[in-house]
Amino acid sequence: MNMYYRSTRDSSLKKTSAEAIVAGISTDGGLFVPEEIPSLTSAEIKAIAGMSYPERAAAVFSKFLTDFTDAELRYCTESAYNDKSFDHASITEISHLFDGTYVLELWHGPTCAFKDMALQILPYLLTTSMKKLSIDKKVVILVATSGDTGKAALEGFADVEGTSIMVFYPEDGVSAMQKKQMTTQDGKNVSVCAVKGNFDDCQNGVKAIFTDDSVKAALAAKGQVFSSANSINWGRLAPQIIYYISAYAELLENGDIAEGEKVNICVPTGNFGNILAAYYAKRMGLPVNKLICASNANNVLTDFINTGIYDRNRDFHTTISPSMDILISSNLERLLYIMTGSDALIREWFGKLASEGRYEVNDDVKAQLAADFAAGCCDDAATKAAIKEIYDKYSYTLDTHTAVAVKVYEDYRKATGDNTKTIIASTASPYKFGTAVLEALTGSAPEDEFDKVDKLHELSGYDVPASLDALRTKAIRFTGSVDRDGMKAFVLAETDRI
Ligand SMILES: *Cc1c(COP(=O)(O)O)cnc(C)c1O
Repeated sequence: MNMYYRSTRDSSLKKTSAEAIVAGISTDGGLFVPEEIPSLTSAEIKAIAGMSYPERAAAVFSKFLTDFTDAELRYCTESAYNDKSFDHASITEISHLFDGTYVLELWHGPTCAFKDMALQILPYLLTTSMKKLSIDKKVVILVATSGDTGKAALEGFADVEGTSIMVFYPEDGVSAMQKKQMTTQDGKNVSVCAVKGNFDDCQNGVKAIFTDDSVKAALAAKGQVFSSANSINWGRLAPQIIYYISAYAELLENGDIAEGEKVNICVPTGNFGNILAAYYAKRMGLPVNKLICASNANNVLTDFINTGIYDRNRDFHTTISPSMDILISSNLERLLYIMTGSDALIREWFGKLASEGRYEVNDDVKAQLAADFAAGCCDDAATKAAIKEIYDKYSYTLDTHTAVAVKVYEDYRKATGDNTKTIIASTASPYKFGTAVLEALTGSAPEDEFDKVDKLHELSGYDVPASLDALRTKAIRFTGSVDRDGMKAFVLAETDRI
């Protein structure tokens, strides 16, 4: 059976997965969703435990990307998930934190954050999709980043045949470590440029270039075409479903849970991609009780899940868990489309979001939210306290994002008495957010990035990720910076060079 994809804002649109991945976003502004949610049997979950991670990924993909052949899926999953890119051949790791509470570590990839789980495979899904559609062009990926996504996209696309990638970051808007990670990036087909401005300047600049007909024409003349590695691409969401199924299968195999036993899944959430993937896994048939959505001080999702009212008219907070500093969670649109099946309701609600910054869902959706989800939030002080508490009690060092999830989970468990075994998604290595983690553990942090790494190594006992360690001596390759007005000329020049 073939699986087609619909736009959340136009149900009459029908695309194959390859078409949806190449397009990224639908021309009506909607997101692509599979028209049906495939099922997963208990026997399939058991079988997955005996497979390698690339095999598990191919097995799950085969239900969603039905236009891909088995050989194509294996090529994609084996190219992405291997021990050259990830520091464990198992790709993800599960740690038992306390009392039926497990941490699913999704940060063993090249950039030490969970974005690698999708961005390592997206280039292969994208280039394979292009081939399948007989689009014989080189794909040029443009990324505007506030830090983490840029590096993860660079690592994913570096030296992938048939692609090139350019990343723009705000000159003074990323950490010293993030800057070093990006400006030392290897690869023949990569380019990195600072922008004299903030993240919005970078993002608006990239959007303007994407839609500039003269740039598109110039690219077409060179046999090139733009694409994006944006988090709303189905090719970034689908890979995230895999690790929840994989983790459940492992717990089952290890005897930590019984066949059919329900677990909770708690996810530190920003754009709603990661937790939506867990929702897909639940709807496929993975035994899941509650999905617990954890937010930092930017708690728009907490309020939404608890009241059914989404209201972005509120202050934006800059926190120590910056990857969750978001007021508009794009992937929520997919959830609401699945729950309502109505493109008209999505157009109405997201039209209101655009014009008034606020919408309220209907009673049916409110009931579904209450049945499947729980939500909570915590501020920076509580996040730091959680890092210290878990370190002192269990000798486990959390990063700031995962700490938000642990704190929200502890609050949930206290408030509800729900002792269902729980998987907490851990989205970054503590080394990535060393300043805040060290402040939580010791009250202060050294100035120099590598002194932080050394101190954290001493305290946590965790191996320093090889990719971060290598940065100590790595030469800077990209020193350029441009005004926002200079981004277009930069792109045109670089498409000749890389
Ligand atoms: C991107 C990110 C998140 C948020 O994930 P969403 O899919 O956007 O909800 C959480 N933690 C870290 C470390 C991230 O990089």
